Amino acid sequence: MTVDIDLKKTVDTSYKIYIDALPALTFDKKVAVVTNPTVSGLHLDYLLERLEAPAVEVITLPDGEQYKNWESIETVLGALFEARFNRSSLLIAFGGGVIGDMTGFAASIFQRGIDFIQIPTTLLSQVDASVGGKTGINNRYGKNLVGAFHQPIAVYADPHFLATLPPREFAAGVAEIVKMAVTFDADFFAWLETADLSKPEQLAEAVARSVKTKAAVVAQDEKERGLRAALNYGHTFGHVIENETNYTTYLHGETVAIGMVMANRLAVALGLMEATEAERVEQLLQRYGLPVRYAIADVDAFYEAFFLDKKSGDNSITFILPQHLGGVEMRSDIPREAVMDILRTFTE
Ligand code: NAD
Ligand code: MG
Repeated sequence: MTVDIDLKKTVDTSYKIYIDALPALTFDKKVAVVTNPTVSGLHLDYLLERLEAPAVEVITLPDGEQYKNWESIETVLGALFEARFNRSSLLIAFGGGVIGDMTGFAASIFQRGIDFIQIPTTLLSQVDASVGGKTGINNRYGKNLVGAFHQPIAVYADPHFLATLPPREFAAGVAEIVKMAVTFDADFFAWLETADLSKPEQLAEAVARSVKTKAAVVAQDEKERGLRAALNYGHTFGHVIENETNYTTYLHGETVAIGMVMANRLAVALGLMEATEAERVEQLLQRYGLPVRYAIADVDAFYEAFFLDKKSGDNSITFILPQHLGGVEMRSDIPREAVMDILRTFTE
């Protein structure tokens, strides 16, 4: 005997992303704001002025990727139990991608899952991390290896927060914006070439267009069984650089910038992209002060490191390659030598 459980339509996890000044947020339930000292020092008052709820708990985690771990999750869960939160309570992630990933993960497991809202405060988290429902933490085996898909019920990306971002953090966000444009939207790329993202309206437009792209990809492939992997453009090479430099030399977005330049060079060699198109991407990245070169010390070791990436299958590496500008190809059939030829051009 077989019994079917039809779960296709039980929950609709659709939500809206508001790219605008934060509106008044009123809730009839307990709310916990999860943040860190950097963000709360700069912006907590701004948020609290707009937030109304029967109880507002502020949970402050230490600032830094190194705290994206179980201990911080325990801190959040402990605070929720102490304050007698329940299944109808709400979490608000208030910070960059680190806070967003952890708050979402805590929300996904607290009493088997409660609602949460993303209020991303970095450019990278506004255009990328806050959208799409990937949540999680790092452990000693690697980054983001433990987590859950748990969509927020809303995302509020307020450009106001971006004014206090350090320039390198800003540029790191631009790298992910360029990523979306190169892989999915040629018009957006051309627009970026002439845009000035130091102008608030143009920045908001860039955030909106990036979010639209990511949202469309996630809508087609929420659990990354196919297309969503295209958003790892630049990341296959970038992750190796992050590893080799122990996550200390570069910000993630900076390694994505270098990684895109590497991927482009491979795409040009394979005839997927024109050299002039690769040049345009590089120029755009450089305009925002992003690094576009990395001296590989050992090309064999660099190649072997691709296999440590959790996003690669066991025996093949999937390269995300631009197809001209605005298109993307995922290729697992690139011969080792073709890749090595490219890596050798990055040894000085
Ligand atoms: P982050 O959260 O560490 O923020 C960077 C720094 O900026 C931190 O020191 C933070 O305190 C500070 N900051 C935040 N807002 C600020 C503001 N308005 N003004 C001044 N300083 C501010 O890093 P990030 O780049 O936002 O996010 C990176 C994280 O996001 C990584 O852990 C990555 O794995 C994750 N991520 C997740 C997804 C996803 O789909 N879930 C996608 C991309 C990245
Ligand atoms: Mg990234």
